[in-house]
Amino acid sequence: MLSALRAQVLTANVEIARRGLARQTFGNASAIDRAAGLVVIKPSGVAYDTMSAGDLVVTDLRGNVVEGGLRPSSDLATHLALYEAFGAIGGVVHTHSHFATVWAQARREIPCFGTTHADYFRGAVPVTAPLTSEEIATDYEANTGRTIVRRFAGLDPLQMPAVLVASHASFVWGETVGAAVETATVLEEVARMAFHTVTLDSGATSVRSELLDKHFLRKHGAAAYYGQPR
Ligand SMILES: [Zn+2]
Repeated sequence: MLSALRAQVLTANVEIARRGLARQTFGNASAIDRAAGLVVIKPSGVAYDTMSAGDLVVTDLRGNVVEGGLRPSSDLATHLALYEAFGAIGGVVHTHSHFATVWAQARREIPCFGTTHADYFRGAVPVTAPLTSEEIATDYEANTGRTIVRRFAGLDPLQMPAVLVASHASFVWGETVGAAVETATVLEEVARMAFHTVTLDSGATSVRSELLDKHFLRKHGAAAYYGQPR
């Protein structure tokens, strides 16, 4: 079932480990087949270097396992909340990559200090509100998804394809799971650059909005002209 999507999700999970974004088993990638109403996700607690496509778990949009002998990632409910709210996305990546997690733990958004950031994220990467005691006690993973969705009221998830969950780490998404892996890689680099920028100059300010839009819009949207036509 869903063999092509399984291959993409396996590659994504292997890549987040290979790129140093996910250590131990602290990370997971998934993809959705919207026509079938099914999600393919990493199994819980399985090492990246021994994982095979057959280990991946297929669930429906309520989280019921449709195919697979292993338990799905414990973060499944967060992924499902994102797929439900953000209809244009096809893949989700969650990692505890070092510098993005540093910003999440400080509960600080990542300001757009330069064009590397602006090429991928149209503004500061937002941070969620902390979860309440009740939200932690019951339906924790689903509530993590809900707090992300609440933070994105008024934001376009394809123009801001990442979030920092307060005191936790990042979730990143894209039109495909492969795109989400690329964005997770860039997010970590941008978070590292921003950390060093504020270390060097605590008064550093964000780029001008004109420069932000120039860089974002030359790569994304109807008027994009960066790279080769597809
Ligand atoms: Zn996590």
